[in-house]
Amino acid sequence: KETQRLQKVLAHAGVASRRAAEELIRQGRVRVDGGIVTELGMQVRPDQTIEVDGASIHRDMPPVYILLYKPRGVVTTSTDPQGRKTVLDLISGVPNRIYPVGRLDYDTKGALLLTDDGALTHRLMHPSYEIEKVYRATVAGDLSERNLLQLTEGIELDGKKTAPAVVNVIGTDGKTSVVELILHEGRNRQVRRMFEAVGHPVLDLTRTRYGHLSLTALRPGSWRKLTDAEIRQLY
Ligand code: URA
Repeated sequence: KETQRLQKVLAHAGVASRRAAEELIRQGRVRVDGGIVTELGMQVRPDQTIEVDGASIHRDMPPVYILLYKPRGVVTTSTDPQGRKTVLDLISGVPNRIYPVGRLDYDTKGALLLTDDGALTHRLMHPSYEIEKVYRATVAGDLSERNLLQLTEGIELDGKKTAPAVVNVIGTDGKTSVVELILHEGRNRQVRRMFEAVGHPVLDLTRTRYGHLSLTALRPGSWRKLTDAEIRQLY
């Protein structure tokens, strides 16, 4: 059977980051088959029991898949150098080391997938996979037919045109308009920059759907685990 380095097993089991796991080992808080191990890099077999502070760890945790309704004013990274609140601060009671798939801006709210399934993350983030994302934007002013055509056909950002998009105007009062934009790309601040480029800056932005995952029954800041059927659909 395959052996793995102790700190790697601890990190995989969601106990701590690799670095923090090394610290736990150095501090003599980790036991393998009942004996304290302080040496780093010990190779452990899958059948060996590992305890941290006397509690045994679960080595084969199935991956978790979480849909978060990200609120405004939260960063989509695991840690923020400026100490701002992160999306991970909103999720408790999940021992797995999950991370967000893709990113929503600090001021954007909406559907955000978090998981510790690296293979799925890799695929969803790949440009050729192009999962569908639906955004609802409140923008300044009233969009002309020409604006709508530009958004649909593509807008040059950083010297590269955006891929064809679907644009639906939900409503307007002349001063502001609510517009739905369906994209398969995920370039940096793409929605904001696309509307800015046609002269209608975004005032409020929500991602209402990520693939088939919509915000139904969630409030900003709340989250739920995906059902098995939803996980299968992502694959
Ligand atoms: N496009 C944006 O401009 N911001 C987001 O957060 C997501 C898509």
